[in-house]
Amino acid sequence: MRIRYFLQVLVIIGVMSACGNSKQVVAPAVESQVNLMDQQMMSVLWMQHSHEVKIMQEQQYRNAARKLKENLRQASGDNLLAVILDIDETVLDNSPYEARLIRDGEKYSDESWDLWVKERQAALIPGAREFLMEAERLGIEVFYISNRSIEHLEPTIENLMTYNLPAADESHVLLKVEDPDKTERRNTVKDKFEVILYVGDQLSDFVEEQDSFQEDMADNEEMVEHALKYFVILPNPMYGGFEKMLYNNQSGLTDRQIDQKRRDALITKRKK
Ligand SMILES: [Mg+2]
Repeated sequence: MRIRYFLQVLVIIGVMSACGNSKQVVAPAVESQVNLMDQQMMSVLWMQHSHEVKIMQEQQYRNAARKLKENLRQASGDNLLAVILDIDETVLDNSPYEARLIRDGEKYSDESWDLWVKERQAALIPGAREFLMEAERLGIEVFYISNRSIEHLEPTIENLMTYNLPAADESHVLLKVEDPDKTERRNTVKDKFEVILYVGDQLSDFVEEQDSFQEDMADNEEMVEHALKYFVILPNPMYGGFEKMLYNNQSGLTDRQIDQKRRDALITKRKK
């Protein structure tokens, strides 16, 4: 008994000292052991099952309706007014697509995304319809600017029409022709309308991100104030522009390199 106890203590001391010495969170050595999609699993489960996310989405859309009315009161009164929304993870929920990738051990591909979009089965994000109906009631023109490909215009409109959403038509759904930068499409709306609110799940749904834009954001009070007034953000932990920053905008990295960069980016103590 004593020997077994002694051995157990030795094992515990060994584990504790190993933990204490580990300065870096190390990626698996073998490429085949890295499964990046598995790292999405908790994010997808949170989006699909947590009560918190449903309340947060509802809350953000009510917040958006309040801002819309506030900005409407402050608008010049001379212009036609508009609100611009993103589609994916803002109005439509694509988490089942992400879930399938995890289930099938696959990464994102244009082919699998194409099949998903053509199913026209994306669910509506809670609160979106009530907000859109309110915008329509207030006489504010609704536009959707999304980086879904222009080839997906028809299934996208049909998916939106499933929920009887306003402005689900070709002149109000502005998809990506070539350039993922949404600035030009925003400008076509701004040419005719005063845009009083944006709703999206990425900063790029509001303003195009420049290099290190997100880092600068913390020091840029003016930008933060502008975003607080004109932009409402929906939660999306599954993917997003933040990821590029983790890789310093490098492309062509192997899965193992990506995995290591993610681990390196983990903050394990308070920044000074
Ligand atoms: Mg989106």
